[in-house]
Amino acid sequence: MVLSDNIKKVFASFAAETQRAMDRYTSFRVGGPADLLVLPQTVEQVIALVKTAQNTELPVTIIGGGTNILVSDKGIRGLVMVLTRLKQKIEPITPSINTNGDPQGRIYLTALAGEPLGHLCRYAADTGLAGLAWAAGIPGTIGGAVMMNAGAFGSDMSQIVRQIEVLDLTTLETAVLPANRLQFSYRKLSLENSVVLKVRLGLTRADANTVRDEFYRNLKIKQSTQPVSQASAGCFFTNPPGVKSAGYLIEQAGMKRARYNGAMVSDLHANFIVNHGNARARDILNLAAQVKKRVYEKFGINLKEEVNTIGD
Ligand SMILES: Cc1cc2nc3c(=O)[nH]c(=O)nc-3n(C[C@H](O)[C@H](O)[C@H](O)COP(=O)(O)OP(=O)(O)OC[C@H]3O[C@@H](n4cnc5c(N)ncnc54)[C@H](O)[C@@H]3O)c2cc1C
Repeated sequence: MVLSDNIKKVFASFAAETQRAMDRYTSFRVGGPADLLVLPQTVEQVIALVKTAQNTELPVTIIGGGTNILVSDKGIRGLVMVLTRLKQKIEPITPSINTNGDPQGRIYLTALAGEPLGHLCRYAADTGLAGLAWAAGIPGTIGGAVMMNAGAFGSDMSQIVRQIEVLDLTTLETAVLPANRLQFSYRKLSLENSVVLKVRLGLTRADANTVRDEFYRNLKIKQSTQPVSQASAGCFFTNPPGVKSAGYLIEQAGMKRARYNGAMVSDLHANFIVNHGNARARDILNLAAQVKKRVYEKFGINLKEEVNTIGD
């Protein structure tokens, strides 16, 4: 998209950069340029940016930690907002008895969308708050975790989110949505055309040593079963219902260690596609297509992507 000098000037006041390569902002380490990229630090800046994008008729793409996305080699048109700087101090709140119908002993943690999930997880482990230890080692932001309904060890975000604050990208209105208005499903929150600005989690007081032990146990399992030090976006496919796991199907279909240029099916966890060298998005997509084809041929199961492909 060719941006006029006027548009560039308007967004320069938000320190937006033009033609910024997206590989720096995704854990896959691939992706072509964003026409305009900006990292807002406050909710007010997010709102002003969305308004300006509307006035200049630019499409808006929201990204958190970029740990569950694959950006195309041609990049993203319009304005990309990366929310990793949208943070403030984590706020613990002890609700008065039965606020929101919650049991006693409940503590709320409130954070802006760009807060790393890992920070919240460690904060909970260090202060003896139970309910988040399952998330040990999951990268990305709390906003992204809510949108993806991130989960592990049989738990997920839907079990601890008490409310979120959102901005509607069309009306520019903000709203607080309590948990009972949120439609979570497996690795998904149904929320169209909105930015998650703020998240409130409900955790419970517990013995600090027990919580810390669970946190480190989970972290250790994750580090020994997943290629956490290689560039990837986590599990590439969702686990189909009724089968052991997508990784099991991929392995049984003989695709573990399969390669396409710089993309490779991890030899540690077959549901991870890793950027093994200088993979491009198209190499990853090509390998993913081969994996799907082989799994379908062997099991008649159509794997569905968990990773979101974004861009041209
Ligand atoms: C090594 C590794 C291990 C992983 N392990 C797990 C795991 O165990 N369990 C699991 O569930 N996932 C796992 N993941 C995937 C990923 O970390 C999670 O899905 C994470 O919660 C995504 O957060 P993010 O901020 O990176 O989101 P992004 O990747 O930036 O975005 C994901 C989606 O949410 C949207 N989005 C992000 N933030 C907002 C916002 N504030 N408002 C509106 N939309 C938004 C984006 O547009 C995109 O569609 C793993 C990934 C890696 C690389």
